[in-house]
Formats: sequence, C-alpha cells, structure tokens
Amino acid sequence: MHITKEEDLRYIIGHAPAGVCILNADTLNIELINTHLLKLINKERENLLGKSYKEIFEVAKPDNETALNMAGTGQSSHDYKGTIIRVLNGKKEVTPATFVYCPVRSGKGKVSQIAVWILENSGEALNEELAAINEELAATNEEYAALNEELVTTNEELVETQDSLRRSEKLFRSIALNIPGSLIIVIDQDHRYVAIEGDIMEKMGYDRRDYEGKHPADISPERYEASRPLYERVMSGEKFSVERKAETGEFYLVHFVPLKNENGVVESGLIIALDITEIKQAEEKSAKLAAIVETSDDAIISKTLESVITSWNTSAQRMFGYTAEEMIGESIYKIIPEDRQDEEPHIISRLKSGDRVDHFETKRRTKDGRLLDLSLTISPIKDKQGNIIGVSKIARDITEKKQEEQRKNDFIGMVSHELKTPLTSLTAIIQAAHSKLRHNEDPFLSGAMEKANYQARRMATMINGFLNVSRLEAGKLLIEKQPFDLDQLLREILEETRLTVTTHSFSLEECDHIAVNADRDKISSVISNLISNAVKYSPKGSSIDIRCKINKETVIVSVKDDGMGIKSEDIGHIFERYYRIETSVTRHISGFGIGLYLSAEIIKRHGGDIWVESESTKGSIFYFSLPATKRK
Ligand code: ADP
Repeated sequence: MHITKEEDLRYIIGHAPAGVCILNADTLNIELINTHLLKLINKERENLLGKSYKEIFEVAKPDNETALNMAGTGQSSHDYKGTIIRVLNGKKEVTPATFVYCPVRSGKGKVSQIAVWILENSGEALNEELAAINEELAATNEEYAALNEELVTTNEELVETQDSLRRSEKLFRSIALNIPGSLIIVIDQDHRYVAIEGDIMEKMGYDRRDYEGKHPADISPERYEASRPLYERVMSGEKFSVERKAETGEFYLVHFVPLKNENGVVESGLIIALDITEIKQAEEKSAKLAAIVETSDDAIISKTLESVITSWNTSAQRMFGYTAEEMIGESIYKIIPEDRQDEEPHIISRLKSGDRVDHFETKRRTKDGRLLDLSLTISPIKDKQGNIIGVSKIARDITEKKQEEQRKNDFIGMVSHELKTPLTSLTAIIQAAHSKLRHNEDPFLSGAMEKANYQARRMATMINGFLNVSRLEAGKLLIEKQPFDLDQLLREILEETRLTVTTHSFSLEECDHIAVNADRDKISSVISNLISNAVKYSPKGSSIDIRCKINKETVIVSVKDDGMGIKSEDIGHIFERYYRIETSVTRHISGFGIGLYLSAEIIKRHGGDIWVESESTKGSIFYFSLPATKRK
C-alpha cells in the first residue's frame, strides 16, 4: 500500500501503543485523538474533537501547564508526571501517567500543533518504545517540513512559469497586432480556438473575447463547415496557403502551418491571414497596363539607366525582329547604328536631369540589318520616392512618313534642278540685255532689265535653297572645305548687298584677317541668308551691323538688326524646316522657312554653332561660330 506523508502520520498515531492526541497550538483544542487514548480515559471521540484539552485532562497543576506552554514555543518536554482520571462502571479511577509534549511545526517553522503522548506508568520498556516513536515522529515531522518547503518552491516556480506564460502571450499578441493587415489564429487538435489576434480581426468577422477557448462549430456552424476541410488538412500535418476574396471585395492570403511537438505530433494549427488587397489591385492594374503595352502598335521598351533592356513588347519584336528572350538583359546599343551611338548617353543624361524626350527622330537597326526611321518618346521611370530607376521608350515607326517626305523632297529636288538650267540661261540673257540697254534712251528698258536681273537672282537663290534642302534630306549636301579669308567673303557679300538693297544701311566692323577652313559657297549662303532676313524683318531706314569676334578656337560672326524681333516661344523653332512665324506683318513677307534650317545644317556640319538673341519688337542678333584656323 502506498502511503502519503499525511496518511503516514495518521497511521503511526492511530497504531501507537500509547495515548496520543494532537492539539491546535493556538487554541489548545483537540484536533486528533487515537484509540489508545480514548480507551485510557474511557470516552467517545465525538465528545472530544474540538474540545479544550485542559478541560478533559487534569493539567491544572503548574508543571503540566508550563510543559504545555513550552511546547507552544517550540521546545519538547518529556516525562512530565501526572495522572489520568477515568470513570469505569460508575467508578472514578486515577492512574499515574507520563505526559510528553512535542511541538509540530508548519512549513514556515511556526508551531502549529502540539502532539501529546500520554503513557500509563507501567514499565520502562514502554517508555523506551515511546521515545523511539517520538524520534520517528520528529523525523517525519522534519520530512514534513522539508516537503512543505519543496511545495513552497514549486509554488514559486509555478508563479514564475505563469508569469513567463503571460509574457509570451503578450508577445504573441503584440507580434500579431503589429504585422500590418494580418490575423493570426491558433487552433488545437479539436479545432478549438486557442488564440486569435490581429489588426484585421474585426474586419474579418472574428472577436478574440468571444472566440478564445471556444469551438468554431459553436460560434458559426456554417463558417466552420467551410473551414473544416482546411483545419483537417493542417492538423494532418500539411502546410499550405489559399487565397480568398471577401464579399466586401478584400483579398486575403491565408497560410496554414501545422505546429508539431518534439515527437513530430501536430499539436496545434497556426493560421495566418494577410490582407493582400492592395497587392492584388496593383497586380490587376499592372496586368491591365501589360495588356495595353502588349497590344500597342508602338514598340514599348524599358531599360535600366545602364541601358540594359528590361522589357520588350510584341510590337518591339515585330519592328526590330528580335524576340523578348533575345533582348531582355541585352544592351540597347544592339539596335543603335554605329554612327548614332553617342545619342544614348546624351538621352540618359537628359532623363537624369528629369527631362522627357519627345518625338526624337532617329534611326535604329533591325535584326536583319535594315535601318528604320523612328520617332522616340523617352521618359524616366520613377519609384515611389521619385528616384529615377529606369527608362521607358516608345518607338513609332515613321519609315513610311519619311519615305513620303523623301518622295516630296526628290520631287522638289528634281523640279529645282530642272528649273536651274533654263534660269541660268535666262539670267545670262538678262545680264547681256541689261548691259546693252544700260544706255538706251528709253529709261524704262534699262530699269526693266535691272529689275529683271534682280528678280532672276532672287529666283536663283530660292531654287538653290530648295535644291540644297533636297540634297540635305538625301544626305547629299556635300561640304567642300577650303582655306579662305572670312573677312574677305563678308566684304564681298556686303558690297553686292549694298548694290541691290538701298533701303537699309550696313556696317562691318572688327572683322580683320579671319582665316577659316570651310565651304566658301555654303558659308556665303549662310551669311547672305542672315543679312537678307535682317533686311526682310526690320523697317526701312534702319541699320544692320555685322561684327566678328575671334578667340583661339572659334570665330563668331553676328548680324544685328533693329527689327520686329522674335518671341521667346518661337526662338526654339525658327531653325526647323519650313518653320515661319505667322503674324499679320510676316504674312506679307515672302519666304519658305528653309533659310535658317539650311544655315543651321551647314554650320553644324562645319562643327560650329548657330543661335539667336532676340526679344519681340527689340530687334535680333543672329550668331554663328566656326572653328578658327590656327594662326602661324
Ligand atoms: P524665311 O524664308 O521665312 O525667312 P527662314 O528660315 O530664313 O525662312 O526664317 C524662319 C523664320 O524666322 C522667318 O519666317 C521669320 O519669322 C523668322 N526670322 C528669321 N530671321 C529673323 C529676323 N532677323 N527677325 C525676325 N524674325 C526673323
């Protein structure tokens, strides 16, 4: 039989061959009394339990009282000699007896009970036995105290464990609450909710206060029916994820994770729901955009700032002949022709400074080597913080438009060319007639010949202009450089202008000994064009000033007028082909908008620059620069 400590004690007391009773140390009331003692005093247990010890036993004698008090303060006292009185068959008997008082301590060392041993004085042997039992009792008592101490420690440990449990729970809740857009549920093997927390808990229709410790079937049987197969899967050890769309339109990604103990048994299931509505919406948006990009007629390409291609749509494939697989990860330089490779760094640097490049006309090479005419619109791709992380490029094939223009140019070129021959003979005839009729008595004839000569020359300039444009477009505008004195050319042009233009005054200053290496005829047409524009767009009687400025590397020629000037919004366009400023005044001034276009091309091909400083009504100064020849 297994006996616990408490039972152990009762057993010993119950079977002791002496009278034993246990008193409450404070009240001295009897708490326990053994059969032997009941026999000694011939009384029933029921009449004694809870009664005062002093009333039952004759302890009035001072020695007995002292011994009892000593036990109360923790000291054992042996061998107090006294008497016990019993009534047997109506007769009162007084028997001498030995009393032993033994303090019983609680776990904290306080005397809580007093054990009293009462022995009839019937021999020494019994006395010894009693001493042995007493010792055993003391040992048991000690053991009892130790056990009690152990219990106290266990209790402390329990409190600590509970504390750490509370801390872990707090941690779990704060983790769950701080994962944005999440709900975390833990279920046990019976699918009962162990824990539930998260900032979307209420949005998803759960409430921790109501749910924890409950079974889902008791909360919402329909909802449980829907979730049960999933709970079963996770509790059978499967780790998986599902996507859900709520009736309210939100998207959730739900992860199911089995939580196993050290023996590999699934003890609980962890369910993590994440609100992925924003991601889903972004995905939908980008899918729509991707569809637009894919079906666009234009080639749409994106690349990094290092010119590595990151996307390549179907039209890019159709246009350039390369598939997306061939091009993604490759450099964009693969489609840029040799002579245009410097365009790319230029474009990237413009984008980096936040600019967009609109309708930039250029050429790109296809996989089979053809050159395509393209109009490019290039924009920076920015991240949420506004940092430029890439480049998007929309390329429109304008080859056909270019071919159309080419045909027009060819036609203009051909017509101009055909007109040139008869015009040359006409000019020659007019000049011959002019010199013959110069002294004719009919003043009309001499004047008419002079005017005819002027008009024929204007016509020749115009035709030359058209011819040059068509040559330029066809890439046939040849620059034939030769060394010559620019100041000399300026003087010649001015002399001739002064002969034909009498409405304005001209000045030429600071232009001495300027040697250049350039195409004399073409530079001549640039200067003539600037001067004739100055005449055309300034009032009669005003002056036109030509100046030169020379430094080590360049020579700059300027032509200044006091005319109508140019509005700032037009300044950027006047060097474009066929661009004319349309006002009520300019409408009556003849021109085709090709002079400045041709001049700019000619200057650029000499490695120079052309620009204007002007303000509406304040006159204009046109400048062009040319590389200067090194002086010996
Ligand atoms: P156009 O044959 O029309 O003169 P250009 O190419 O020489 O063609 O000039 C383009 C346009 O620039 C002109 O139509 C005119 O509006 C403007 N422009 C050129 N020179 C001047 C000037 N000196 N002052 C004012 N406007 C000018």
